[in-house]
Amino acid sequence: MFSFVLTATLARRCGAAILLRIDDMDQQRVRPEYVQDIFDTLHFLEIPWEEGPRSPDDLKREWSQLHREALYQQALAALKAGGKLFACDCSRSRLQHAGGIYDGHCLHRQLPWDGPDVCWRVNTAAPLTLHMHTGNGLLPATLPDEQRYFVVRKKDGHAAYQLASVIDDDYFGIDLIVRGEDLWDSTLAQLYLARLAGMDRFCNTTFYHHTLLMETPGKKLSKSEGATAVRFFRNEGKTKADIFSAIAGMLGIREQAPDWETLGALLLDHYPVFRQPAPAQR
Ligand SMILES: [Zn+2]
Repeated sequence: MFSFVLTATLARRCGAAILLRIDDMDQQRVRPEYVQDIFDTLHFLEIPWEEGPRSPDDLKREWSQLHREALYQQALAALKAGGKLFACDCSRSRLQHAGGIYDGHCLHRQLPWDGPDVCWRVNTAAPLTLHMHTGNGLLPATLPDEQRYFVVRKKDGHAAYQLASVIDDDYFGIDLIVRGEDLWDSTLAQLYLARLAGMDRFCNTTFYHHTLLMETPGKKLSKSEGATAVRFFRNEGKTKADIFSAIAGMLGIREQAPDWETLGALLLDHYPVFRQPAPAQR
């Protein structure tokens, strides 16, 4: 909700339309009650959006990522044909053993593309300077080690998150993205991918990475905990003003926030939500 309030606030200020995006590629994990809860929460908090699904049924019918499967596969085929990918059959335990950072073990093994338990990874061996458009101007960056040889097709044959995300943002013509700073590395992987795929619009998207809401210092509040918190407040008979004010309070802002517009304005005024990590640290 925090991200959404920020996105809505920034979009209003730029005169842009807000797209509600619900990633539902992983049908096992996206439970109907979770999707329903997103709509219930937005309605309860009276946060508007111009584009995207209006209801769980509408999501299924018009907006689901399942409808764009052909686009994802097309992009994968083009990357593969361009020699940008390689197949990898490393087990989870092997990856964990290597400290979670992939060492390029399968880069030259020439494994069959459609072998069992094979995922497709991007060959990121060639250094590439990336440029991220941010609220503070253009920031040069390189792909972090954690994203080295990142996966674009999962072992089940479906597009991985990074690929689906870039294709979706391009498909919907997104030019402003607001997300938590925990996704910073992920954004760089997506920029890398967009460069390889020649997706100029994505490369020119402006990104705002905001600090995360902390439950206690050092412990971030996960998305699901956030949604549960809103539902909990709702069931306790709290109003949206109580919830917005509580969010402000968590960020050390003492003012009351009766609605999302007030909260958004307070966030922009009081808190370094658009703080960018110093380029030297990245
Ligand atoms: Zn491998």
